[in-house]
Amino acid sequence: MELKSLTYTSWARPRISDGDIEAILRSSHTNNPLEGIGGVLIFNGGAFMQVLEGSEKAVDDMAERLRADKRHSNFFIRDERLISERAFPDWSMAYLRLKDDEFVGEDRVQRALARAVPDATRNIIRALTQSLPVAR
Ligand code: FAD
Repeated sequence: MELKSLTYTSWARPRISDGDIEAILRSSHTNNPLEGIGGVLIFNGGAFMQVLEGSEKAVDDMAERLRADKRHSNFFIRDERLISERAFPDWSMAYLRLKDDEFVGEDRVQRALARAVPDATRNIIRALTQSLPVAR
């Protein structure tokens, strides 16, 4: 089966809470295995970057659903391509924080991120962090 990888960034709704992030991850852990989707969600306190992997249809349908979610805005696709194997086969949705310019979270997830997303794309979340009024 052809697989697709899609990476987007978005701005979190102002005053988004840890509870909101937990709810997003709960939905991901429930829904993604049913849709054959995996990937990683990165949050820097104000912006998201998410990598979605799965069948082309599942990823495109999920991207449309995410675009409509009011917990974020400015949904912007940064990278999309067909891939031959998943970088995140073990995660329905892994999670990393970006803090003080460092990705914080499981080492295995960080290595998978480095494999899955080109440096230039990965650095967009760093650039978004620098443009936050106050990094959390
Ligand atoms: P529920 O979680 O029960 O939600 C029902 C509806 O209410 C949806 O339309 C939802 O958008 C909305 N909603 C729920 N809670 C809130 C809230 N606190 N504020 C505003 N609206 C709310 N979903 C996945 O399945 N997989 C993912 O990988 C994934 N990644 C996400 C990444 C980001 C950055 C965001 C913001 C959301 C993500 N979501 C993800 C959530 C997704 O947009 C849908 O909310 C979710 O898939 C719907 O899940 P559900 O059918 O279980 O409905």
